[in-house]
Amino acid sequence: MYTINKIASVLNADAKIAAGDYVIEQLLTDSRRLIFPSTTLFFALATARRDAHNFIGEMYERGVRSFVVHPHFDTAAFANANFIFAADTLAALQTLAAYHRKQFHYPVIAITGSNGKTIVKEWLYQLLSPEYNIVRSPRSYNSQLGVALSVWQMNAENNLAIFEAGISMSGEMEKLENIIQPTTGILTNIGSAHHENFVSEAQKTEEKCKLFKHCNTVIANGDNNFIVDAIHQNSKANIITWGDNESNAVQIFSRKKNEENVVIELKYSNTVYQFNIPFADDASVQNVETCIAVLLNLNIPAEIINDRLQALQPVDMRLQLTPAINNCALINDSYSFDTASFAVALDFMQQQNQFTHKTVILSDVPGASKGAYAEIIFVLKARNISSTIVIGEQWKAYFPFLKEAIENVYHYNSTNEFLSQFSTSFFRNQVILLKGARRFGFENIAAMLQQKVHRTVMEISLTAVIHNVNEYRKMLNPGVKIMAMVKASGYGSGSAEIANVLQYHKVDYLAVAYPDEGVELRRANIRLPIMIMNIDEEAFEQVVQYNLEPEIYSVGILKKFDAFLNRQGLQYYPVHIKINTGMHRLGFGEDEIDILIEILKTNNRLVVKSVFSHLVASEDAAEDAYSFLQAEKLEKICSKLQAALNYSFIKHISNSAASIRLPQLQFDMIRLGIGLYGIDNTSNHQLSLQPAVTLKTTVAQLRKVKAGDTVGYNRRGKINVDSIIATLRIGYADGFRRALSNGVGKVFIKGKCAPVVGSVAMDMTMVDVTGINDVEEGDEVEIFGNNISISEVAKSCHTIPYEILTGISSRVKRIYIEE
Ligand SMILES: *Cc1c(COP(=O)(O)O)cnc(C)c1O
Repeated sequence: MYTINKIASVLNADAKIAAGDYVIEQLLTDSRRLIFPSTTLFFALATARRDAHNFIGEMYERGVRSFVVHPHFDTAAFANANFIFAADTLAALQTLAAYHRKQFHYPVIAITGSNGKTIVKEWLYQLLSPEYNIVRSPRSYNSQLGVALSVWQMNAENNLAIFEAGISMSGEMEKLENIIQPTTGILTNIGSAHHENFVSEAQKTEEKCKLFKHCNTVIANGDNNFIVDAIHQNSKANIITWGDNESNAVQIFSRKKNEENVVIELKYSNTVYQFNIPFADDASVQNVETCIAVLLNLNIPAEIINDRLQALQPVDMRLQLTPAINNCALINDSYSFDTASFAVALDFMQQQNQFTHKTVILSDVPGASKGAYAEIIFVLKARNISSTIVIGEQWKAYFPFLKEAIENVYHYNSTNEFLSQFSTSFFRNQVILLKGARRFGFENIAAMLQQKVHRTVMEISLTAVIHNVNEYRKMLNPGVKIMAMVKASGYGSGSAEIANVLQYHKVDYLAVAYPDEGVELRRANIRLPIMIMNIDEEAFEQVVQYNLEPEIYSVGILKKFDAFLNRQGLQYYPVHIKINTGMHRLGFGEDEIDILIEILKTNNRLVVKSVFSHLVASEDAAEDAYSFLQAEKLEKICSKLQAALNYSFIKHISNSAASIRLPQLQFDMIRLGIGLYGIDNTSNHQLSLQPAVTLKTTVAQLRKVKAGDTVGYNRRGKINVDSIIATLRIGYADGFRRALSNGVGKVFIKGKCAPVVGSVAMDMTMVDVTGINDVEEGDEVEIFGNNISISEVAKSCHTIPYEILTGISSRVKRIYIEE
């Protein structure tokens, strides 16, 4: 372990050690992930979007004493702290990681490539765990920051390391190579990800191969000469190639594809082997073949490889929040268990503020030391977990310590014992995290807890929502705030879940249409200020009780709310003034401003937080003159109000489309709605938004229908040639609109589009899958998402994406994903 003085000398940096020579165990860059203040070294990273120097005050208050900061940072306010000064704080973190790496002499495998890095890493981990005590990158930590944090986890108890390295620009790989210093390299494949930042395929390959500069061995697919040449040019390593060509060290000469597995035959060192790969999709087969080449090279006997292949688990690194029994939600992260991924999963759980009760179910941690258990107990205590269930023989020994540290703990010797003794009624209105090693079979617990879902689900990627917010942030003038519009249940995506993640990622404001929606957010423990756009007298009580901020849109409602505040004896209540500049929906007209000023001027009951208006044609370039006119009207009124009030307020008029199309109208804040979900309804698409919402269903039945027959109600679906028709578990009651009947709409299945046949029914829809290979009952079908956009569906229905999104009915289960 390193003391702060030692770290300063490793970094060859100036330092001010005022708090004492602390021992450092954790490196932290994300202030939200603080767990162990006194042993943490906080690196204040600065990016275009966020400067972590702003969080040093908060970190200091929470007990952190050691920081790496920019030389210009003013340390005066922090008397009792240690500062190391570095012009580039990320580079300092990388230097420290590289130094740490040098302390160990066991093999280090580094994996790069366009796809499959995480899967190959996880599978190698699964396949090699019996021989090795492996340290590996958590999740897909493979960036300039992620790699440094991964390498920092190396310790003397390990005897093998497996790290991922990912790049998005040229010049990055050299730095990663320097941090990882791999002895063995793996190149999964070269595809099109991040293509835009490279001049050519060749340049990208060249850059990737820099990872192998000092490797002894590199394992790669050898069917592409160009890749093999690139490795040769960048490294003196012994290259073990695999692939179909005869020249490969591992030559695969047959692949027999079955329904659920593929049997391959290959030749290695003049011996023929057969392996049974327990997956049938091409990507998985390719990843397993890479793993087989690695294991053969490590001299692991073929029978053992085959045995272990059969136990391979699919890797889904995404954390999912799924609905569970009795109003619970489940985070099932039970394919592996180590302390790093545990911290990440706990963090995701912690963000689910809509549940006050949080339960963790844990298995033994395979191969863990006493220290690891102590760390887990410490983390559970620090995170205020409501109840904890531990399962396994090892936990028995640590249970007394656990019991001493936290309340509501339960121990079971085995998963079966838990399942047979525990009642599901224990779980109510809570979020449950399942974190267990594979051999504990926690999938049986998941099955017990998971609500049986109607097979149509709406998947909301919280990661995409945040990506989209950040895309907009890039376009904002400095200091412009964001109000996220989460009305209508977050445009159908769920208000509390979306609000939570937005709160975590620091948007400034939320807005909903009606008071009930605001109350729901408060009940879900959302603390951001919330504007309510549509109130009436009946709701005043609720508004005040839940600290919601009403939009005041008329003299009438203003007088009534003012009188209410007066009766309640309330002062300085925040409100928002809506100005009608052309929509002619709600809002004060120009002629009412004098009355408005009259009432506000001498009034200490109401505080105007913002004054705003709404554009009528923000996405339409032909109406820009009108938009500017609206903005001008708003500005004029704002100046008048400003002159009368002796405090300032926020001005805003732009929605998603306007905030990118008309940046001069951003004023102090934008109101972001549809853009959050990845829909850009401007015509020139300046942002690269990600679709955040996917609607999926499954095939209930397949049937051959002869030419001349008809499909569905009223014989509308005429069949002209012999066809294969799939019946899907979705209908207009789910929000799959009847307007999509008879070939107007289509769905995406097995990589192809299938048109709707006949009329969409209430709960079911038929599509023509003739000519689409391998469609089977139970197959997943995308209604909209990455392949069919919501905008396309809207166009087919002659409506707008807003109506499609908000029209997905509540019987469709929402599943939240963090990638
Ligand atoms: C819904 C709404 C928005 C958001 O509009 P998008 O086009 O979805 O970005 C902005 N302002 C007001 C007043 C709204 O009602």
